[in-house]
Amino acid sequence: MTPSLPPTVAAHVPTGLLIGGGWRPASGGATFPVHDPGTTEVLFDVADATSDDAVAALTAADEAFAAYRSSAPSERSELLRAVYDAIRAHAEDIAALVTAEGGKPLAEARAEVAYAADYFRWFSGEAVRFDGLARRAPAGTHHQLVLRRPVGPALLITPWNFPIAMIARKVAPALAAGCTAIVKPARLAPLTTALVAEIIREELARRDLPGGVLNVVPSSSARGVSEPLLADPRLRKLSFTGSTEVGRTLLAGAAQNVLRTSMELGGNAPFLVFEDADLDAAVTGAIAAKMRNSGQTCVAANRFLVHAKVAGEFTERLTEAFATLVVGHGAEPGVTVGPLIEGAAVERVDELVAGAAGAGARVRIGGERPHRPGWFYAPTVLDRVTPDMPLVTEEIFGPVAAVLTFGSEQEAITMANATPFGLVAYAYTGDLSRALRLAEALDTGMLGVNRGMVSDATAPFGGVKSSGLGREGGAEGLDEYLDTVYVAV
Ligand code: NAD
Repeated sequence: MTPSLPPTVAAHVPTGLLIGGGWRPASGGATFPVHDPGTTEVLFDVADATSDDAVAALTAADEAFAAYRSSAPSERSELLRAVYDAIRAHAEDIAALVTAEGGKPLAEARAEVAYAADYFRWFSGEAVRFDGLARRAPAGTHHQLVLRRPVGPALLITPWNFPIAMIARKVAPALAAGCTAIVKPARLAPLTTALVAEIIREELARRDLPGGVLNVVPSSSARGVSEPLLADPRLRKLSFTGSTEVGRTLLAGAAQNVLRTSMELGGNAPFLVFEDADLDAAVTGAIAAKMRNSGQTCVAANRFLVHAKVAGEFTERLTEAFATLVVGHGAEPGVTVGPLIEGAAVERVDELVAGAAGAGARVRIGGERPHRPGWFYAPTVLDRVTPDMPLVTEEIFGPVAAVLTFGSEQEAITMANATPFGLVAYAYTGDLSRALRLAEALDTGMLGVNRGMVSDATAPFGGVKSSGLGREGGAEGLDEYLDTVYVAV
């Protein structure tokens, strides 16, 4: 156990599988280790779910669905509000765990916990606001009712980079809609999911709601969990957040039983800085958009596209700002940049940077691994970057800013859209008309105008093109878990 995780928190982290309202070991008895990326030490060994465990979780979710689907919307609303209150009450403990297993600085972990809790508060409200329709048919021959009802048992697969926010964005709307859930957290960071699942388990039990409403099956074999469930007709919904490559495989699997799917996939966000931008604001926004979680976010600015007139000045100021960042273990006071999630991630980022530098890019700061234990990479800025470099065409997922230049608005739009991805874009400009033109022209699900952060539980989050299908948060987030039934009377 590392000192980074207070013993009082460690004592409360469940390490089993949650199936049908009780924690249990994996049926094969196996476990897998979860590391602190800031030290590489093992934090816990966690039960390693087998295919049989996954099917047992689906059985529990299916049985619970029969009762939970007819629970009163107000009861579900109160459940979610109580979960919100409990997360807020335990926020410090949860944040410590997010930092221990994911590496991000404690201040960022606290912000993630608050952001995640907001999904429970928001969907507590949405749970009693499903809309429907009743009207006389235009032909005058009958009446038409349009009703909404829960889709059914849902498989929720999440990534490691936001250990609480990613499950909150799925579990809160699923439970609000009346669906039951099986969560498959990421192998690299499953602990926070377990801690939050225990909070939800307690609140379900307190209300005499079925324990099988929420099941959790961490596993070192993701396919061992997903494949039997996607083949089982009792499963009715798949919501996935992760890489586009895995998303494609899961979409193919979901075709077997024609599941409702939500896909939050990879990004390659352009960060546009126009000649009329406030450069101080642009640098502040750039740090927010690039450096959260050491650059390991789907909404991370991946390509800084800067008007040639201001590129020199912007890069200079960005480099100065990077020089003030403090790299270290996320639990250390004052640290602003934590480790990457694993050794392989450091190798990958190093290869992207070395490849770009070898092809003519200039490293302005960083470009190396700090000498310290843990999986760290130094905050790095490169300019003289060209659009064909893998540093630009691939998702970097590290603390590396690549600066390219453009000469006109049209060129900026063409460069921004030259990617299969379309999750988010950022634009810094003093011209509102230009911002509105960009909102029309950029292939993106979200656009931050003079803002380096867009995520908000109350607004629809999601992408276009290879960045995914569906939206999380906002009113749209609930739709993902509801079917529409038309009744002609
Ligand atoms: P990943 O795709 O490797 O894994 C995501 C989840 O899928 C994990 O739980 C993993 O165990 C599981 N998984 C992996 N292979 C699987 C398979 N064959 N079948 C079933 N499940 C499988 O992604 P990651 O490395 O955990 O996360 C990083 C990626 O997630 C990045 O591409 C990032 O952009 C994306 N992401 C997207 C969003 C979004 O909202 N769009 C948010 C966060 C992360």
